[in-house]
Amino acid sequence: MPLYDYQCKKCQTVFEVRATFKEKETGLEPECPQCHSKITHQLLTSALFLRHSDDGASLELPKCGPNSGPGCCGG
Ligand SMILES: [Zn+2]
Repeated sequence: MPLYDYQCKKCQTVFEVRATFKEKETGLEPECPQCHSKITHQLLTSALFLRHSDDGASLELPKCGPNSGPGCCGG
């Protein structure tokens, strides 16, 4: 079952919610474990996407080898 990160808008508590895709589709209303408020919003983790673009960029860098001139790899 996937985990979703939610933050309470009332007391700013971040908590994880376990829900099926079907539950998520039908509209999930998680309750804050701290103040039991249902006024929450989902946190979206974008770190994974950022890492992907970093990997793509590094592929375009020239590779350093034994025949590389000075200045390569900080030398
Ligand atoms: Zn709360």
